[in-house]
Amino acid sequence: MRRWQFTVILLLSTLALAAAPAEEPVPLQGFSSNAARAEREWEGKFRSIPSPDNLRDYMKRLSARPHHVGSPYDKENAEWILSRFKEWGWDAHIENFEVLFPTPKERLVELVEPTKFTAKLEEPTVPEDPTSNQHDEQLPTYNAYSADGDVTGPLVYVNYGVPADYEQLERLGISVKGAIVIARYGGSWRGIKPKVGAEHGAVGCLIYSDPSGDGYFQGDVFPAGAFRPREGVQRGSVMDDTLYPGDPLTPGVGATKDAKRLPLEDVQTITKIPVLPISYGDAQPLLAALKGPMAPEHWRGALPFPYHIGPGPAKVHLKVKSNWDIKTLYDVIARIDGSKYPDEWVVRGNHHDAWVNGAEDPISGLVAELEEARAFGELLNQGWKPTRTLIYCAWDGEEPALLGSTEWAEEHADELSRHAVAYLNSDSNGRGYLYVGGSHSLEKFINGVARDIEDPEKKISVWKRSQLRRIEDAPSAEERQEARERPDLRIGALGSGSDYGAFVDHLGIASLNLGYGGEDGGGIYHSIYDDFYWYTHFGDTSFVYGRALAQTAGTAVMRLADAELLPFDFSDFADTIHKYTDDLKKLLKSKQDEVRERNKEIEEGVFTATADPQKSFVPPKPEEVPPYLNFAPLENATDALTQSAQRYRKAVEKANANGGAALASAPLSPLNELLVQSEQKLTSPEGLPGRPWYRHEIYAPGVYTGYGVKTMPVVRESIEQKKWKQADEGIIEVGRILAAEAALINSAAAELEKAIK
Ligand SMILES: [Zn+2]
Repeated sequence: MRRWQFTVILLLSTLALAAAPAEEPVPLQGFSSNAARAEREWEGKFRSIPSPDNLRDYMKRLSARPHHVGSPYDKENAEWILSRFKEWGWDAHIENFEVLFPTPKERLVELVEPTKFTAKLEEPTVPEDPTSNQHDEQLPTYNAYSADGDVTGPLVYVNYGVPADYEQLERLGISVKGAIVIARYGGSWRGIKPKVGAEHGAVGCLIYSDPSGDGYFQGDVFPAGAFRPREGVQRGSVMDDTLYPGDPLTPGVGATKDAKRLPLEDVQTITKIPVLPISYGDAQPLLAALKGPMAPEHWRGALPFPYHIGPGPAKVHLKVKSNWDIKTLYDVIARIDGSKYPDEWVVRGNHHDAWVNGAEDPISGLVAELEEARAFGELLNQGWKPTRTLIYCAWDGEEPALLGSTEWAEEHADELSRHAVAYLNSDSNGRGYLYVGGSHSLEKFINGVARDIEDPEKKISVWKRSQLRRIEDAPSAEERQEARERPDLRIGALGSGSDYGAFVDHLGIASLNLGYGGEDGGGIYHSIYDDFYWYTHFGDTSFVYGRALAQTAGTAVMRLADAELLPFDFSDFADTIHKYTDDLKKLLKSKQDEVRERNKEIEEGVFTATADPQKSFVPPKPEEVPPYLNFAPLENATDALTQSAQRYRKAVEKANANGGAALASAPLSPLNELLVQSEQKLTSPEGLPGRPWYRHEIYAPGVYTGYGVKTMPVVRESIEQKKWKQADEGIIEVGRILAAEAALINSAAAELEKAIK
């Protein structure tokens, strides 16, 4: 799952010491100077091992045939990965789960009025692409976890199909009740489109890839170029994983053979209406047959006709039926025990299943993880041992619903809560810039790693390159200044959309998601053309960014595993929390201003006077202005957090002084244990309102954005959904959580002050 969402997962940062040379190595946080010297030496050896040729060979093997959940090649790949881990000296096994995974049984889209047309729903072989003809093994184009249904109705074009689009439809006096809506990909996670459509009374949903998004409007189409061809379709899950991800039948527990299962009819995460994805080739006759008002300008795509909204006269018949089968998952789990702290685990993962051949998604990320594993095996032979335990995972079933990682994390929740130091994820890779999302207590740490990785094209550090990009892209002078001067590049918060979900959102394990991209655009996502041919012509064709990913993630793993004092830092976290609090205050104010202004315009008669009498228009109704909220509990907690973070930072600096001898001799275990708990402290046992699986009070995927993160979700979403009482309670709750976090950081500071005395 996932394409890099630039605005969401930007790492990017800044330069610390204006006077020092930009590329000078900074001291390793959490290491005494002797330990740091040894660490740097081993890290240097580690980074020289990953080889682009190996990455290419692994990809060729792993993407040779379609390997979705339940397919023969999915299992073969898992067994092949298992043998590699063993060959490289890891203690490895396959862990199985039994999960609900629907596959298509019947699919039909036809235009029944005013003319007849039957959609092909097929992606043709491209002669020069040798794996595009494996039709017997390819999953047909579909959206997994769509409800079964057989519906006919007038067609309505709803742009991206997000809530704001339906507000616009309301202004135009258009209802989708009883209609089949057609939405284009983009603007939200795909599962939001049928969800919001159904909430407004639609009976069916089509999602198509407009050429403006990833087709000819962006560049030459495959095989001449990288972009989506006329018949290319984006498969994908539409399961409502904003409620909970993983096996729909076993929320909160591992889907083992004997697990207690919900009856299918009680599952809430399956869509309410049938939905299918289609190509622009198939969408064109449907959209061209629409009449009714012209779509607003920003709704129009790149197809060669006027975009009308409908409803009708186009009438569509949609039929979707799935085989609702239980399939076996094959998670590969490998481990190297730590020499000193075997009960502290650094966990790393990337999924191995794909929608079809999946060279880019996910194999381009997986092969980097495998090269890290091989490199660690080689270091073992050279005499290195990690201080903490490494656990490397190749997940199955990520594409349908983060199945493999979620079931494994649920099954091992207790152990993970006690032992996991951090989780590092990747999922696909490409050419360009390093992107990082994750827990802000690791922001400083991952900035340090990025400073030590060389960009293969530009021969400057990937950190420096990201910083310069951020300076160029800064939307305001203020942000440009921040990019230049803030010691660390900000990392994005994690929403959902890959295997970190269960770790960070459910268990409260500090997590990072890493990958390169930005210069590797294309339109093969979740299609049969995401394969070795495409990747070796249009992706990271020389695999040097694959090597950079292995170097980045592997260095991060090593550093976390070997640090004497775990490299958590709370100053960036406190700064981020401050920013989130300000954002919420601004959000409320802008909502108030917006409603006030609109009410005023209604009173002035602006809408009635300016509406074209020959077009239908429904003026908005006056609304109550959002009330003021008391942000004091949040602001007080943020202050306390800032102070405790400063105290901890000072203690760390003191510990690092004089070669950090104190770090080498002090008993740091109790302190490290506190640090590990710092992320769990940000969760609440009862979880978020209406979705108890999600326990993190700072990060969660948005109920109406899907992948897109909502920070301080209970407060933010309450404001967006005008639930003022819940917003007030949320502020108190998040304030309480942050105050407890500040107290934990204070204890950590006290513990460190004591240890280095
Ligand atoms: Zn993926």
